[in-house]
Amino acid sequence: MRAMEKFDVAIVGAGAAGLMCAAVAGQLGLRVVLIDHATRLAEKIRISGGGRCNFTNINAGPANYLSENPRFCRSALARYTPRDFLDLLKRHRIAWHEKHRGQLFCDESAEDIIEMLRNECAVGHVHWRMPCAVHTVAYTEAGGAHRYHLTTDAGHIATKRLVIATGGLSIPKIGATDWGYRIARQFGLEVIEPRPALVPLMFDASTWAPFAGLSGLSLEVEVSTGKGKEAGSFVEDLLFTHRGLSGPAILQISSFWTPGQPITLDLAPTSDIEAALFEAKATSKRQLANLLAQWVPARLADAWVANSGLSPQARVQELPDKALRSLAQAFSGWTLKPCGSEGWRKAEVTRGGVDTRALSSTTMETRAQPGLHFVGEVVDVTGWLGGYNFQWAWASAVACARAMSESISESVNAGRAGEDALS
Ligand SMILES: Cc1cc2nc3c(=O)[nH]c(=O)nc-3n(C[C@H](O)[C@H](O)[C@H](O)COP(=O)(O)OP(=O)(O)OC[C@H]3O[C@@H](n4cnc5c(N)ncnc54)[C@H](O)[C@@H]3O)c2cc1C
Repeated sequence: MRAMEKFDVAIVGAGAAGLMCAAVAGQLGLRVVLIDHATRLAEKIRISGGGRCNFTNINAGPANYLSENPRFCRSALARYTPRDFLDLLKRHRIAWHEKHRGQLFCDESAEDIIEMLRNECAVGHVHWRMPCAVHTVAYTEAGGAHRYHLTTDAGHIATKRLVIATGGLSIPKIGATDWGYRIARQFGLEVIEPRPALVPLMFDASTWAPFAGLSGLSLEVEVSTGKGKEAGSFVEDLLFTHRGLSGPAILQISSFWTPGQPITLDLAPTSDIEAALFEAKATSKRQLANLLAQWVPARLADAWVANSGLSPQARVQELPDKALRSLAQAFSGWTLKPCGSEGWRKAEVTRGGVDTRALSSTTMETRAQPGLHFVGEVVDVTGWLGGYNFQWAWASAVACARAMSESISESVNAGRAGEDALS
């Protein structure tokens, strides 16, 4: 076991935000220690984007984030943009491509991002403690100076600034914990109830029985939920699963969905189904299922007709106008009530987290608790699907690192007043 060591900054959590914060703070001249309890570095980066890491979204802006305090993310996102991250990739010669709607991925592997951040930390002479658990955190103040004291598997660490970068609760088997929330509460901060987001939704067995056989089928839909400020709507691909719905459309809407609420699907968002059905009634003898298969895959059209209580052979001509109208309305506004989500095991991110109203949006520092910062997913800022969550991790980390450097240089210039009292 090591004896007590002193650092300017201790960062707990060596994921996306912790690595970035450590690298930048180290390169700005701070003595940084980066602590993580995992045995493998940055597992979430490694598994992200199907192994190619959707590391940012070129269009990332405050409108792409959910939070109880929506303005909080503005400053950090404006000061570290997707272009800044692309400059970093360029310096490391990492090739990338745009896939869909501004989503940028590595050409080769997510490992390139991890390696880049590890190298950036080496340039900043970052000290590593990994795997290493932190057991306790205590705070002392004397003579105008403060310190955090950490007891860890690797001994006692004393630091002027403590950065919590322990992420959210998704995928516990690769190291997610609620430790960051517990530290927040220890120092009097509120935590907005964490809940799984960017997650598949499930339906009870009887609702889903007619559709369970469609597992694997996918189509573009418009999905919406909620009202007013809480409303969300996306045009994206939907994927049927054995237990419910997934795919980008559902992952996106799951972040807006609250238990008990319905979601609504427009299965043919670019067509006027009612007009098309009435036209078909007047001009053809086609079967309804066959007609609907113009807009959705045939298996879904068949299941849809069967679920509406109609014979699979029903012809559009035979249906009364009222039935046709309500069928068209249901097709463009299919309302379903999920019984739940697939939970932390499958969620890509956490909605909720440390209440940002207690933090400075420019430094990520707790207003009432000097030297305590929170960055990345542990805070109540949740991005849409598509690279936005990593962009928040980078931007919040850089804002924090720069602010710590400025503040510590100021205290050096001021002759480290009071520092001796604690050393
Ligand atoms: C399957 C999957 C795919 C994803 N794909 C994308 C994508 O393509 N694009 C995108 O933008 N976002 C994606 N995300 C979300 C993205 O990975 C996270 O938003 C991002 O990693 C958050 O960064 P972070 O540093 O805050 O937390 P994390 O990257 O989760 O890092 C937290 C670190 O803290 C450590 N830690 C936790 N508790 C403790 C403790 N008690 N003591 C010590 N260390 C601790 C963990 O071991 C971990 O290393 C994906 C997430 C998942 C699960």
